[in-house]
Amino acid sequence: MPRNMNNQLTTEQMISIIRNGLKKSQAPKHIIIVGAGIAGLVAASLLKNTGHKVTILEANDRIGGRVHTLRSPFSNGLYFNAGPMRIPDIHSLTLEYIKKFALPTNLFINRTPMDLIYANGIKTRLSMYEHYPGILNYPVALNERGKTAEELLLLIIQPIMNFINQDPARNWPLIEKQFRRNSLSFVLNSYFSDGAIDMIGVLLDMEAYMGMSFIEVLRESTLFTSTPRYYEITGGMDRLPQAFLPQLKEDILFHQKMTKIVQDKNSVTIHSIHQQTLEHFTITGDLAIITIPFSTLRFVKVEPYDSFSYYKRKAIRELNYMASTKIAIEFKSRFWERGGQYGGKSITDMPIRFTYYPSYGIGTEGPAVVLASYTWADEALTWDSLSNEDRIQYALKNLEEIYGHQIYLEFVSGTSFSWSHNPYSCGAFTVFEPGQETELYPYITKPEGRVHFAGEHTTLTHGWMQGGIESGIRVAYEVNDLPK
Ligand SMILES: Cc1cc2nc3c(=O)[nH]c(=O)nc-3n(C[C@H](O)[C@H](O)[C@H](O)COP(=O)(O)OP(=O)(O)OC[C@H]3O[C@@H](n4cnc5c(N)ncnc54)[C@H](O)[C@@H]3O)c2cc1C
Repeated sequence: MPRNMNNQLTTEQMISIIRNGLKKSQAPKHIIIVGAGIAGLVAASLLKNTGHKVTILEANDRIGGRVHTLRSPFSNGLYFNAGPMRIPDIHSLTLEYIKKFALPTNLFINRTPMDLIYANGIKTRLSMYEHYPGILNYPVALNERGKTAEELLLLIIQPIMNFINQDPARNWPLIEKQFRRNSLSFVLNSYFSDGAIDMIGVLLDMEAYMGMSFIEVLRESTLFTSTPRYYEITGGMDRLPQAFLPQLKEDILFHQKMTKIVQDKNSVTIHSIHQQTLEHFTITGDLAIITIPFSTLRFVKVEPYDSFSYYKRKAIRELNYMASTKIAIEFKSRFWERGGQYGGKSITDMPIRFTYYPSYGIGTEGPAVVLASYTWADEALTWDSLSNEDRIQYALKNLEEIYGHQIYLEFVSGTSFSWSHNPYSCGAFTVFEPGQETELYPYITKPEGRVHFAGEHTTLTHGWMQGGIESGIRVAYEVNDLPK
């Protein structure tokens, strides 16, 4: 996508920066980085290497932020990626860091012909649905019959993508302009029947996106119009942030939750509260890089008030974050594999919605962890009102409808993670509402005096580590040679 690149650095230049670093700084500074998620770690690593002093303030007791892998309560060696779980092969920055740190990867099997679909009370396999899309009884219009959800969506998206690809630099802005105030639902309603829209929403996991910006969906559509391979880091996605620790561990102050940003002509001071001792702490530097999500920045005081522009304040206040909740369950054996399902997923219209089967350890004996439920937006919020124990029990009930009573015989333990209950992200990831890209995006990245910004929300690659990494490189490049 043309706008995925930031205005100054191309993807190729960013890859070169990952490999070779930035050029030595002509003006070494003390830079305070708030947030030890992937964006903060990338920025800190690059800046430290070019000769700056970096101090990272992190509210949590661990690094990684949304790149979070849970190993408890599971049997030895088993884990569940509560945040990122897959990396498309087009995410060259993420893959470059994985290569740099020599982290092991395996294919993440996102989809197989054996993917189970259970919708409108009908149980089938993806391969069967692709042959007979009518099998699920969605009340589609006559001219929509015989087409899958994906084929219908492509009827809209493919011609737009073809137009963009003719001359991306010229045509992408035209498309952005044409659809800038439209939601996905608005666009779908102009073409399809309600039944077809339901089918697209349920089977392509787009119900959460219906009220969101169509442009946002379009930008993700390379994942529909091509069939990327996906990877995961073997052993857990958190091995990526962990790989930064040897270089940065002395520079990170844990449990320090930023509460206030104060700047004057010569310096910036970050105020924080230690999350265990509740002691106040301040640190002053030449510049600050704020990488925390705007959903959490909303709670931070800024002094002087107008040191942040009107539009930055508006963006911090209004930027939309989507909820997401995952429920993971350990089973004694891989009973789904006995049914011919190796990796891939189930799609249902039950509350669990999407279930993912492990792509690692296929064919092995013994226990395995299934992502029993992965939900977004309102569907996630429904689960959020339940206790952890109830989430597991209801997920089991839903799985029982697919696999029968063996579910209970195979059950070992489970856990869940709600990103909107996580105080350090207050949501899962940024998704623009209609109009937000034009109204807010130009102001999100803009520095405010001595304060600079990074994080997935400051890019157009929302909801991916790639966005966090891109922003970390961009901000490091931005401040490297700034005067003290
Ligand atoms: C459910 C889910 C699924 C995802 N799936 C994928 C996927 O499959 N593949 C993929 O590539 N990406 C995926 N992502 C997206 C990816 O996790 C994010 O885009 C990326 O990790 C964001 O990194 P960041 O550094 O911008 O923000 P964060 O990781 O949120 O880092 C911000 C840091 O700031 C800290 N912080 C917050 N407030 C304060 C404060 N007041 N003071 C001090 N510190 C503070 C936080 O603790 C955190 O460590 C997923 C995310 C979620 C939630």
